[in-house]
Amino acid sequence: MKRKRIRLGVLVLTTTIVLNVGVVADASAATPFGTSRWREPRVTYVVSGSSHYRSVYAAAIRAWNSTGQFRFVQGSSAHHQVTLTTSNSTTGQFHMLAGITFTTAPRNGYYSQAKVLLLARNLSTYHYTTADQIHVAEHELGHVMGLQHSTARNSVMLANNRYNGISHNDVTAVRKRYHTPVGRHS
Ligand SMILES: [Zn+2]
Repeated sequence: MKRKRIRLGVLVLTTTIVLNVGVVADASAATPFGTSRWREPRVTYVVSGSSHYRSVYAAAIRAWNSTGQFRFVQGSSAHHQVTLTTSNSTTGQFHMLAGITFTTAPRNGYYSQAKVLLLARNLSTYHYTTADQIHVAEHELGHVMGLQHSTARNSVMLANNRYNGISHNDVTAVRKRYHTPVGRHS
């Protein structure tokens, strides 16, 4: 069992708090990225969960793949880098989270494995629509690729993102992450 390191999840509060609280910059703020990445802008994945959540992940993958900056490619149970699944946990580290991404500690700056959980019971409790759930999945896939939280009001990487899809600056950040050596961040 590889040692997993928690990256970042999405805070779920109430809709009102999500809409009205938080430091939000103008839409032109760049989306930040960290010092680590995959060796190539391409990873293999496996997805599990209900047919509903598999379709949520599929929509998020289509959205990122269509940007042309990164490819999520279906792998096999024996050979994959990223696991996409769900959890009904609501307590401990999952309290008030919509989604969470774990990555293995990077070796020489490169990720080797990642796991994303969508917190299905929390998403239900807080009445996330399918569109909202896809935005959470897009956010978590952003972390998988190496993006960090943005303060831009229209970024999918807003820390408590529910309503935003992928912005132009989010796509630019992925391109820059994979044209910037490991060890350097934005
Ligand atoms: Zn996050």
